[in-house]
Amino acid sequence: MKTTGQNRLIYLLLVALLVVNFSFVYADSAAAQPLEQGSHNYGTANRFETGFDHLNVHINYPQTDYDNLNVAISGWIRSTIEQYKTAGNGAGALFIDYDANLVAEKYISVKLFARYQDETGRVSDSQVNFNLYRDSSKMLSINDLFNDDQLVDLKARLAYASGIEARYFETNSLDCWQLTDRAFELDLLADDYSPLIKEDFHFTLPYGNLFDLAAITERLNQHPSTWLATSDIVNLKSDKKIALTFDDGPGPYTERLLDILQKHGARATFFVVGKRVGGRQETVARMPKQYCEVANHTWSHPALTKISNARVESELKATSDAILAATGSGAAMSRAPYGALNGRVKALTYQLGYYFISWSIDPKDWLTKNADKTYNHVINRVSDGQIILLHDIHKQSVDAAERLIPKLIEQGYELVTVSELLGQGGVVPQGGKVYNKR
Ligand code: ZN
Repeated sequence: MKTTGQNRLIYLLLVALLVVNFSFVYADSAAAQPLEQGSHNYGTANRFETGFDHLNVHINYPQTDYDNLNVAISGWIRSTIEQYKTAGNGAGALFIDYDANLVAEKYISVKLFARYQDETGRVSDSQVNFNLYRDSSKMLSINDLFNDDQLVDLKARLAYASGIEARYFETNSLDCWQLTDRAFELDLLADDYSPLIKEDFHFTLPYGNLFDLAAITERLNQHPSTWLATSDIVNLKSDKKIALTFDDGPGPYTERLLDILQKHGARATFFVVGKRVGGRQETVARMPKQYCEVANHTWSHPALTKISNARVESELKATSDAILAATGSGAAMSRAPYGALNGRVKALTYQLGYYFISWSIDPKDWLTKNADKTYNHVINRVSDGQIILLHDIHKQSVDAAERLIPKLIEQGYELVTVSELLGQGGVVPQGGKVYNKR
């Protein structure tokens, strides 16, 4: 794919077009403010300056090894210059800079951004993104990444995060996306969505939270030549994973917690109390829709060690049935109230198929009811593979989660469900057994 000669030709064509069509009279635009420097991590960096009657042009752009990408880049630069060369009556300035990244050795993601400043100092920004899959030299559209169902899901997440209703997301205005080392990122430009948003909105979806892996794998098999290989996704996903678990709900703060999880593309596991499910069925139904896991915390929260075998069975079975009614699937994954288990209960649940999840970090949020203490306890102890115990029936615990979730993501953790955490450790859960971390 080395086509340096052709690249040079395209570059010369770009220069020639500017020279032939316009005279080199530099406008005086003293007040012009340059763009921030882009990240030039891929391609050959080129700088290009020229002037027209009313416009000074300052361009940084990348030369790549791919003709189609180079043509797209130079085409956008040309049309952007065309757009502004007649704008305004006095001196204006146009700056173009770029981010270019090579991701997983397979993708080239180029973002070009332009800033035009007119004689009054008024600024107008524009942007374009190009993504290329190196194996096929093919340019990718968002439809190469997501199937129709996934696009609906993506739009729902965008709608929540941006406050723009999902119906406004036409496919053609979701084209400012790029792949970075850790995430799928998308910009909603204020110009495209005016007056719904006043500033560009930047959306980040970490690869680890990019829908469920099974659906993506299916997509890979349909489009093996254009999409990431499964191994690439696995490599791009963070290798630090933890499971946040929330007990004793659903309660009045559970929806707010789900909003927070959704906003950050994070997942959690909810150990629900069966008798509370009926009153908040829609809340429980929402959990798996955003890839959270619903698990069993008994019907009425008794210490299993203190009740009969028949009642242990009915406590677990009735809760699994309530979860089944709300979500469409029951829950063998359980947590014993108070962590109370003994040989008798383990032997019984071995036969029944229920297994138990304990925890490895317990901030005692239900006792302190103090968001700062809960936050600090977790942040000071967290490490890869931990299961963290929290309770979504307390406002202070949800307050703590609101700060913990973005902080943990910032620290490089992927927030996964308990099943994902166990599965990644190669654990196949068995009835009557207890698991407390990966
Ligand atoms: Zn509990």
